[in-house]
Amino acid sequence: MTTDPISIGLDTSDSAQRLIVAECFGVEVPTFQGEGPSCGHPALFIRLSRCNLTCTKCDTKYTWDWSQFDPRKESTKRTVADLVAWATSSPVELVVITGGEPLLQQARLVPLVQRLLAAGKRLEFETNGTIAPMPELVLAGVRFNVSPKIASFGMDEAKSVVPAALETFVASGRAAFKFVVSSVADLDRIAELADAHRLAPVWVMPEGTSADVITATTRALADAVAARRWHFTTRLHVLGFADARGR
Ligand code: SF4
Repeated sequence: MTTDPISIGLDTSDSAQRLIVAECFGVEVPTFQGEGPSCGHPALFIRLSRCNLTCTKCDTKYTWDWSQFDPRKESTKRTVADLVAWATSSPVELVVITGGEPLLQQARLVPLVQRLLAAGKRLEFETNGTIAPMPELVLAGVRFNVSPKIASFGMDEAKSVVPAALETFVASGRAAFKFVVSSVADLDRIAELADAHRLAPVWVMPEGTSADVITATTRALADAVAARRWHFTTRLHVLGFADARGR
């Protein structure tokens, strides 16, 4: 990886109104939330650029891996007003703010979230759970889909499991904990984390970027997930759109 050439400083009046965005989709070509508690709901997506982790199994490396991607091609700065105008041009209620890791830019997300809620939208953050959300983001109409990355996903848990941040999400009462799983063996580690940090509800999602892999992993996991009485989600965008970017 190379040094990030685009500053994400949080304190000037101009940058406070701009976010570093990888892509927005769902207005021009409709789509739906593909994962988690709102799986199948029509949705708009604001994907922010940059991440604080480097998971080897990441499927959005164009948001952070500058050894493979050019940040000048993969990200733009967009104003809050621009993003609000884009989202409110659609009647779709659900706006998913994802990444990368969106809470890296959370100070600048506050006015965006406030304005989208005022416009009648509801919001879901897709976050890796390493950064505690500011109180200004913990609002009615906001849910956090928290996805801590376990070692089998290619990440050192000393970096990807942050107890203080997880405790803040639990205390918010607005979080679901969604784990990406490759094999039944992963479920024991998830149970340890859920017990240690009182994570609930637990959602399990099969890892994979093809329908064949998703189907095979779903079948391998189904009995074991059901036996634990956890929630189970697929990756509907992979099944429906073949993991096409921008869907
Ligand atoms: S936390 Fe998510 S976006 Fe960041 S590297 Fe891991 S999988 Fe990719």
